[in-house]
Amino acid sequence: EPHLTAAGVDAYLTSKLAHPDYASDPALLRGLARADEAGLPKIAVTPQLGQFLAVLTKAVKAERVLEIGTLGGYSTAFFAKALPRTGQIDTIEYSPQHAKVAQANFLDLDLFPFPTVHVGPALDILRDPAGPFAAPPGEIDPGYDVVFVDADKEAYFDYFVEALRLTKSGGVIVFDNAIRGGRIAVPDGAEVPSDATGLRKIFDWIQADAGKTVLSAAIQTVGDKNWDGFAIVYKN
Ligand code: SAM
Repeated sequence: EPHLTAAGVDAYLTSKLAHPDYASDPALLRGLARADEAGLPKIAVTPQLGQFLAVLTKAVKAERVLEIGTLGGYSTAFFAKALPRTGQIDTIEYSPQHAKVAQANFLDLDLFPFPTVHVGPALDILRDPAGPFAAPPGEIDPGYDVVFVDADKEAYFDYFVEALRLTKSGGVIVFDNAIRGGRIAVPDGAEVPSDATGLRKIFDWIQADAGKTVLSAAIQTVGDKNWDGFAIVYKN
């Protein structure tokens, strides 16, 4: 029976829960089509995860959001929509072609705040001493309320280090693709798949931290994207 599949349930949930200003905004649907036409991979968050990110942004009353991995700007749009008009959203994308599609989508969506796309390898941009992410959080730059990491999995630990530096105390960091079809939990001694090494290093760090710096959870998901999940890290 078609409805007894994870993808069928996702379709049902979206048919019920898609908000007119969020997942069922026609401009957002046009944006997905534009990304398809441009040949971008179909690896954006699901409508449900997008709306979850919007709920999170609103619930923590975020003013500033940082995203690593823009693609066509689908998830970025959920953040921009959930932010107050005084808010700020920075998103980092390696591919100039992806960034260009995202920019076209942001214009079509008429987003406010309008996302700033930083084009290039995320680690170089985040670590550039003369770049926009150089300043440690202080009075002028209070840091980010939400950081969403959704880019090359191999670099996740390095993104975690930068995200912790850039996140406000009381802010959250969300890592997409934290479960990878279960590959995150290979038994001790077994070879760790390359898309899970970064996350495992983060989890080792969190274990060693023993609650001093962060409080975290990882949630497994099924649905359109098969067996995967996300991790959420609250900075004390
Ligand atoms: N967050 C997007 C969404 O849900 O709509 C999906 C992002 S997609 C899963 C990952 C993106 O990260 C791709 O567009 C890819 O080009 C980008 N990426 C990969 N490696 C990167 C790097 N080193 N620096 C910045 N972006 C990178």
